[in-house]
Amino acid sequence: MKGQMMQYALSTNSIIEYGNRVFPRKEIISKLPDGCWHRYRFTDMYARAKKMAGVLINRLGVHRGDRVATFAWNQYQHLELYYAIPGAGAICHPINIRLSIDQIAYIINHAEDKIIFIDATLIKLFEQIASRLNGTPQLVVLAASPAFETSLKNIIHYEDLLTEAEVLDEWIESDENDACGLSYTSGTTGEPKGVLYSHRSTYLHALSIMTPNAFNISCQDKALLIVPQFHVMAWGFPFVCVMAGAEMVLPSCHLQPESLIDIIQKEKCTIANGVPAIWMGVYEALKKNPPNEKLTLKEYLVGGSAMPMSIMDAMEQDFGIPGVQAWGMTETSPLGTISRLQPHHYDLPRQEQLKIRSKQGIELPGVEIRSVTEEGTTAPRDGETTGEFEIKGPWIVDKYFRCDHTQGNTGGEWFKTGDTGTIDKDGYMMITDRKKDLIKSGGEWISSIALELALVAHPQVKEACVIAIPDDRWSERPLACIVFTDDTEVPAAELRSFLSGGFAAYQLPDHYISVKQIPKTSVGKLDKKELRRLYSIGQLGERSRDK
Ligand code: AMP
Repeated sequence: MKGQMMQYALSTNSIIEYGNRVFPRKEIISKLPDGCWHRYRFTDMYARAKKMAGVLINRLGVHRGDRVATFAWNQYQHLELYYAIPGAGAICHPINIRLSIDQIAYIINHAEDKIIFIDATLIKLFEQIASRLNGTPQLVVLAASPAFETSLKNIIHYEDLLTEAEVLDEWIESDENDACGLSYTSGTTGEPKGVLYSHRSTYLHALSIMTPNAFNISCQDKALLIVPQFHVMAWGFPFVCVMAGAEMVLPSCHLQPESLIDIIQKEKCTIANGVPAIWMGVYEALKKNPPNEKLTLKEYLVGGSAMPMSIMDAMEQDFGIPGVQAWGMTETSPLGTISRLQPHHYDLPRQEQLKIRSKQGIELPGVEIRSVTEEGTTAPRDGETTGEFEIKGPWIVDKYFRCDHTQGNTGGEWFKTGDTGTIDKDGYMMITDRKKDLIKSGGEWISSIALELALVAHPQVKEACVIAIPDDRWSERPLACIVFTDDTEVPAAELRSFLSGGFAAYQLPDHYISVKQIPKTSVGKLDKKELRRLYSIGQLGERSRDK
């Protein structure tokens, strides 16, 4: 027998309608690229987004299912588009501005974006892309006219469109399974692939991450959205904050640690999201210049790469701010797990607690994760047996956009993440590596992430990246590329002895290379592909060997 409850669409329209009805006075604050501040309320955002939805339909000819792209920093007009585009029945496609020109052109051509909204400060960058586009999307600058000089033809202005616009009576109501958002994977493992989020997946993801066991966001909070809106929809924060009535602070391009600290203190932010590189930078800046008053953050949310336990510990000991780690992927909207202690951990010694918190955590309500061994069996939750994590749930990708065939990791009942590791008896998942990053030496696996996390705990090591290099005898050996603090190199023998306590002898890198910097992907992750390439063409510097 079927339940007899109403069919009520879970949609981005219902999120913004709720935010406007219940939290109309809540503020949205943007620090714009020119350093000026812009402030307005949820209700103002609502009115402008609804007007823009009308512009999209009546003036720009948008139809259901059209892709409408954004090429912009985190700021209020970009936020309006997050609601205006799906509210017009179309699909909001934020483009990652940090990808290469070729990748951006590939993505726009692949998505066939009909309109592209561009931040005024990114117009020069976009000029390099325009000539590589197959189509001629309508370009709209997020400014009023006349704004600036550009070689781009056919540009119209966002603020002019809003001034001329009629108010739209009703949002276009979509089926909850219709697409509302599109993100491309960052391409660390080949061509970018599109992931098409639905209204339903977006709604349920936001609801789940709002809960106290997850990000614990409420109308008491003021959230600083450091994760760019062009990277996996800023982890869903533009939706969860409106749903929770949490105020939003949008820093646009002001992402240097000193600027972030300044924004947090001025606006009294209580929560912020960012990748480990951001929080390591913030920690260093705080150390250099300790603030007069304690930071207002109750905690910071970190994900995208493994957060070193040593930095999480130091940030808490030195500045009293705990970090909460989460894991996810573009394909998982992005959040799948979160690492918070449970009451039965409270009596454990602090170091034990830190070990738990530096794992990737437990499943969010709504998703299921398992680990599958090389033999194809489900690994026991014993904290020891390693396997590839597979995930399923209502906000997990089923198929990639415009890929008729399934792509190896999609199309089944479970999505194969490519991340490997263990799940312990309490359900905490711990990533030991991405599949391709595991180093197999003499038939035994070595975790490059474990080595990197241990190396950055050395006081003279600022950053570390471990890659596999070919070895005649062992087939592969680990190579550690290290950025030393103040350029003061530490002898390889000392690093080996520093690591030796936590690793078997065969797991210790034989080679250590001092590098000025470690190449990063567009989203700030260690770019191992590039390091491997540099190594293969002999451009990684001299090797110091110690056996
Ligand atoms: P992306 O789709 O670019 O967000 O990349 C997703 C990948 O980032 C995952 O498959 C993981 O390999 C990695 N990742 C995300 N969060 C974490 C985390 N907390 N710890 C370790 N790796 C992570």
